[in-house]
Amino acid sequence: MLPPSIIAIDGPAASGKSTLGKKLADELGYLFFDTGVMYRAVTWIALNRGVLIPDEAAMTALAEDTEIDIRPPSQDDGRNCDILAEDQDITWEIRRPEVEAHVSQVSAYPGVRKALSAQQRRIGRRGRVVMVGRDIGTVVLPEANLKIYLDASAEERARRRYQELIERGEQAGYDKILSAMRRRDQIDSTRAVAPLRPAPDAIILDSDRLSADQVFDAILDMIR
Ligand code: C5P
Repeated sequence: MLPPSIIAIDGPAASGKSTLGKKLADELGYLFFDTGVMYRAVTWIALNRGVLIPDEAAMTALAEDTEIDIRPPSQDDGRNCDILAEDQDITWEIRRPEVEAHVSQVSAYPGVRKALSAQQRRIGRRGRVVMVGRDIGTVVLPEANLKIYLDASAEERARRRYQELIERGEQAGYDKILSAMRRRDQIDSTRAVAPLRPAPDAIILDSDRLSADQVFDAILDMIR
């Protein structure tokens, strides 16, 4: 049997979607596409240019006009790909707390979503892709052949994010990360357009109880 050509992985921040998606894509020889980087890149560009985040029209124009380039990784520093915008490598810049603090507000704007989802759909419909985000199985590619919703408790997700930051040598506080994550989950799951929720036909997995390897093996078993 052929593996599913479009695999959608959705779920809240730091639930392990990217780790799982990258591993699956490598295993199947598929493209790995983390759609969150696009929302992060638009947010970073706005902060960099001084565009006011509450200005919905300006943010929508920015999402419609800016080129975000996603390329294979040029460095072996833990990145899955290079993210380029404004003539610079912003791969790690888009992970900064200032971006995290604003990205959910930006991604709640319908015009921003429309512009970025259209690009995501174009890439996804070519097939042989593992696409990761919040609304891939529900809105961007409801035709995906396999939909996974990867969940985990906010505490476990905050612990993972804290660990990641410390390992990269950055300053981090667990309580601050946890409250920022809860705030982001709240906005992502209650917004009017494309809220975070599992598609009715998604397979729901809880990564609190399963290790990254167990999640990966479970999905591979399903595919095979
Ligand atoms: O997955 P990641 O944490 O990088 O996503 C950053 C933010 O981008 C999310 O909190 C969410 O607000 C937004 N996002 C989205 N739809 C997607 C992917 C990400 O709204 N498909």
